[in-house]
Amino acid sequence: MASKRLATTATAALLSTLGTIGTVACAASSGESVPAGSPAVNSTANSTLSGPSASPLSSSAADNRARPGAPGIGDPDFPTDGNGGYDVDHYLLKLGYTPSSKHLAGTARIEARATQHLASFNLDLSGFTVSRVTVDGRPARFDRAGSELTVTPAESIPDDATFAVEVAYAGEPKPVRNSSNLGTYGFIPTRDGAFVTGQPNGAKTWFPSNDHPADKARYDFELTVPAGLTALANGELVGEPRTVGGRTTFRWRESHPMASYLATMTLGRFEVLQGKTPGGLKNLAAVDPIFHGSLRRLYDVSGKVTDYWSTLFGPYPFSSTGGVVDDFPAGYALENQTKPMYGGFAPDDDIIAHELAHQWFGDSLSIKRWKDLWLNEGFATYAEWLWSEHEGRSTTEQLFRRNYAAAADAPIWSYAPGRARPEDLFNNSVYTRGGMTLHALRQRIGDPAFFRLLKQWVATHKYGSVTTPEFIAMAEKISGKNLEALFDAWLFTAEKPSTW
Ligand SMILES: [Zn+2]
Repeated sequence: MASKRLATTATAALLSTLGTIGTVACAASSGESVPAGSPAVNSTANSTLSGPSASPLSSSAADNRARPGAPGIGDPDFPTDGNGGYDVDHYLLKLGYTPSSKHLAGTARIEARATQHLASFNLDLSGFTVSRVTVDGRPARFDRAGSELTVTPAESIPDDATFAVEVAYAGEPKPVRNSSNLGTYGFIPTRDGAFVTGQPNGAKTWFPSNDHPADKARYDFELTVPAGLTALANGELVGEPRTVGGRTTFRWRESHPMASYLATMTLGRFEVLQGKTPGGLKNLAAVDPIFHGSLRRLYDVSGKVTDYWSTLFGPYPFSSTGGVVDDFPAGYALENQTKPMYGGFAPDDDIIAHELAHQWFGDSLSIKRWKDLWLNEGFATYAEWLWSEHEGRSTTEQLFRRNYAAAADAPIWSYAPGRARPEDLFNNSVYTRGGMTLHALRQRIGDPAFFRLLKQWVATHKYGSVTTPEFIAMAEKISGKNLEALFDAWLFTAEKPSTW
């Protein structure tokens, strides 16, 4: 993510809205989906630990060892984000949206593999009325509590078994609003459609998911909107859009693993420019008509930047690049996989360079825990400096010096960027001091080792999940140097570093 007004982040207010959005509609399930004949109850938070499968068929000895999957994936800073007990392989989202009524309806089919013997498991979903849940085609019981949707299949799911859960749901999407320093995110209705950016945990505002970057999956989208509108999702179009009865269906496929917060279905009136980058990669730029004047530039710069990063960071990890400018004044951009989203402004070169660097750092390589966010934002910020130097503007050294000149009591030094704080996740330090950390490292180990490290980091962990200790270990291995003091001073100490 990049903010148009970086460095304005406030400190400290609690993220009271996270995980407990007040507008959640707890829906009773239909009679059909409740084998015991009683409606699913609106249970309390610990309902996820409640009883075994309701099916009379599930009383085998094996089922006695089945346990509920955890209601969180294990990120201590965001304890209810994501879920435990399974790993998603693929999402198929068949969704229709009508801007005039703000009505979203459809089904999500989720193919997953159990990582324990599951009596029940959770999905993250905020709001909506769920009408039906099936597991491998059989009706399943479900309960809602806050943003947790607990699914109890008719029969328990053995460890390592694959299964498919299908959720039918409908309602008015409610984005997450006014959470401290995160702004408004998730599925955001706009005048002519929607602006959809999920970081850090807004996928739950439009589809049921394992909403944490530690569980990446492939995606297929079938998005139906009123004719005349364009629905944009990740990856590439599958076939031509089809219009039937005044509604057009767009099918998109992202065949590479993707974190849930990077999924999008931004829709509305768009002018679209498609082709290839000079390097031969598919390129798609789309702008709301009020940004007509910036379409060509967005397309050209995105193509140029993607090609240049491919020489510096290694081959582009996905099958297409581009960018989307919508008219919702988010004031930020998000690195949605293959299609960065710019909210309400024509992006300058630096922000385009930032979001496209994220395709390597953040999208292909995703963080296992949010506290390591500098691995995304520090790298993307340093990429802005690299682009500036590449274009003959300020050099990385000049930009480093300019930032290092901040007084010893400047806020950037009191926030240690190697440990992003949940209540102030997108602090300027995570970006700028994170970027400075890379420059300090580069000074210490020299250009050949530094750029070899970047390429090897990207190649080793392609499509995977990463942590800060893994990066430090690789930096030490490639450079042959003990870098503990350097990383301690730059990443983990709440004062101005004096050495590098
Ligand atoms: Zn960013």
